[in-house]
Amino acid sequence: MNRFDGKVGLITGSASGIGKEIALRFAAEGGIPIIADLNLAAAQATAQAIQASGAEAFAVAMNVTDEAQVEKGVADVIAKYGKIDILVSNAGIQIVEPFVDFPFADWKKLLSIHLDGAFLTTRACLKHMYAANFGRVIYMGSVHSKEASKLKAPYVTAKHGLIGLAKVLAKEGAEHNVTANVVCPGFVRTPLVDKQIPEQAQELGITEEAVIKTVMLKETVDGQFTSTDDVADAVLFFAAAKNNVLTGQSLVVSHGWFMQ
Ligand code: NAD
Repeated sequence: MNRFDGKVGLITGSASGIGKEIALRFAAEGGIPIIADLNLAAAQATAQAIQASGAEAFAVAMNVTDEAQVEKGVADVIAKYGKIDILVSNAGIQIVEPFVDFPFADWKKLLSIHLDGAFLTTRACLKHMYAANFGRVIYMGSVHSKEASKLKAPYVTAKHGLIGLAKVLAKEGAEHNVTANVVCPGFVRTPLVDKQIPEQAQELGITEEAVIKTVMLKETVDGQFTSTDDVADAVLFFAAAKNNVLTGQSLVVSHGWFMQ
């Protein structure tokens, strides 16, 4: 008996990086991951890789900022499996610019992917979770849900916002056996971070190595990146919650960068 046998988990942004690792690990423990991503070709490739290992997976095209696409993607999952037990709202991007120059369009784009995406996917899944009297919702936060860094005005704002969203859901969802949590990773070497290293080096006028050592990992206890595996452990821990005891909580996974 595996921990997630028969459970259906919709994971946004799971064609790459952290979300992909969560999908692979969820499938390895008996779950059926729904690979929901803007990039349908990459989502299908991830689903095929999981199917090749003998597990089940389903890819859906989903721009999490598009209400109609989110509703359709969730409806397609319900048509195929009849339920969604777990939502991991993970899709995200990063844009770094000094506050004084931050383009308004980029501010709105980033907030929309992180916050509209979390809201729309949660709302679409929630009616099915309430009907089933079961749901586990996990938001991908960040150390930037608790702490700030230069050049990241909308990202820090959005990631702090997810904590508030989870607390509301924890209260509203409780009577329907729906829990809400936030996982808050430190820096993880994914395409999202690989893109930032040269951008931050340019903005801060330092080398890429210095960005890693003196910006990204400076406050960790051991100079280590957090791994996708470590983040998946935390997400699947909340996904397997037996009851409401930890609902509304956020967990920082960051090699000691931020301690609370
Ligand atoms: P990534 O770039 O490797 O993967 C992000 C995925 O999201 C991609 O597959 C992309 O196609 C998808 N995506 C982007 N916009 C989308 C949209 N509008 N609709 C649907 N899918 C969309 O990034 P990652 O590092 O794996 O990041 C995943 C999450 O983890 C993000 O929310 C990010 O903020 C968070 N996070 C990352 C780090 C890190 O250091 N990498 C640290 C803390 C939190």
